[in-house]
Amino acid sequence: MTEPTHDDEAHGGALGSRLNWLRAAVLGANDGIVSTAGIVVGVAGATADRNALLTAGLAGLLAGSMSMAAGEYVSVSTQRDSELAALAQEKRELKEQPEAELEELTELLERRGLSRDVAREAAVQLTERDALKAHARVELGIDPDELTNPWHAALASFLAFTVGALLPLLAMVLPPSGWRLPVTVGSVLAALVLTGWASARLGAAAAGPAVLRNVLGGALAMGVTYAAGTLLGAAGV
Ligand SMILES: [Zn+2]
Repeated sequence: MTEPTHDDEAHGGALGSRLNWLRAAVLGANDGIVSTAGIVVGVAGATADRNALLTAGLAGLLAGSMSMAAGEYVSVSTQRDSELAALAQEKRELKEQPEAELEELTELLERRGLSRDVAREAAVQLTERDALKAHARVELGIDPDELTNPWHAALASFLAFTVGALLPLLAMVLPPSGWRLPVTVGSVLAALVLTGWASARLGAAAAGPAVLRNVLGGALAMGVTYAAGTLLGAAGV
């Protein structure tokens, strides 16, 4: 069995968080594609009026991207608050009981495979350099210099959803009326192959099942809203 080296872990951490961001962006775009495709295809079942399609699609795009951004802001803010609270408590403990904290850091390093003496020496050096950062990283598993900014997370969600939503919206309003549905359905399904494949690869999962589930999910969404729109349109609602 090969243990990961320290270098692997360091790179893995940075790479891991970049992959998480990328994966969140792909999933956000996927949401934008599916929900906006559902809206414009549903409205297209009821009417061929381009203004109605544009209005519904744009409202869906804005509602979805704002809702994603707000949700992300709230969730990242909460996470950041609890990380800041943990750091503040760590700071207090370091001030009030430095000896106990040094022993704690020593034991944590020992548990990672260092001998007692080396762990003690490492803990002393880390504490002298930056005690809070050492405890944040080893004990809490967070980097105090790289806490996620809620505004960045919100903006990223907003942009990812918007980019995804633009595809079905433009595919529906740009072509001449006879082409709207086939162009929209075709480009949406093709895009869902791509986002399904990308999110599976970024999560190191098998691509085939992910693509199939993603395409079926999108096709179901469009099928249901188209049926509902057609029924409402036929009923003259
Ligand atoms: Zn501590």
